[in-house]
Amino acid sequence: MQAGSKTALLVIDMLNDFIREGSATWVPDGEKIVPAVARRIRKARAARDPVIYVCDAHDPDDEEFKLWPPHAVTGTPGAAVIDALAPEPGDLVINKKRFSGFYQSELDGALIALGVSHLQVTGTVTNICVLYTVADARARGYEVTVFQDSVAGLDPEGHQFALRQMEAVLGATVR
Ligand code: ZN
Repeated sequence: MQAGSKTALLVIDMLNDFIREGSATWVPDGEKIVPAVARRIRKARAARDPVIYVCDAHDPDDEEFKLWPPHAVTGTPGAAVIDALAPEPGDLVINKKRFSGFYQSELDGALIALGVSHLQVTGTVTNICVLYTVADARARGYEVTVFQDSVAGLDPEGHQFALRQMEAVLGATVR
């Protein structure tokens, strides 16, 4: 339940291990969204809306590596936000170990403390961490807007499916 009325910008998994070509979990369309995400970040900072980076930070033997190649291991360069979108003082960085940014993380507590009721969502992967984070955000009653030019999927089918799912089933605004 949200008491606040603020908007926050989420920047999900814009990490070296997803965006850098040749990395273990490379998202081929990830690089294309960087300019749009950078614009959203600048706009949010100018409006003094919280900018919250939601980032994979895995243990070296994380359970998730049974499903995916090892990636974004805490403390490695692969787990860092790409230089072009680096967090600045005042931004928040929230670590997660699963697809949903809300699962066993400090995200919900931070949003409540900040008085946030509306989330603007950017990042990767549209049909994985973006989708499951939006699902949990909607379950908690947050209003959600997803910017199509600022999210990237693993493939066009997954990307389009997730956008439809977030709009039609989860009630997010997709624009
Ligand atoms: Zn992961």
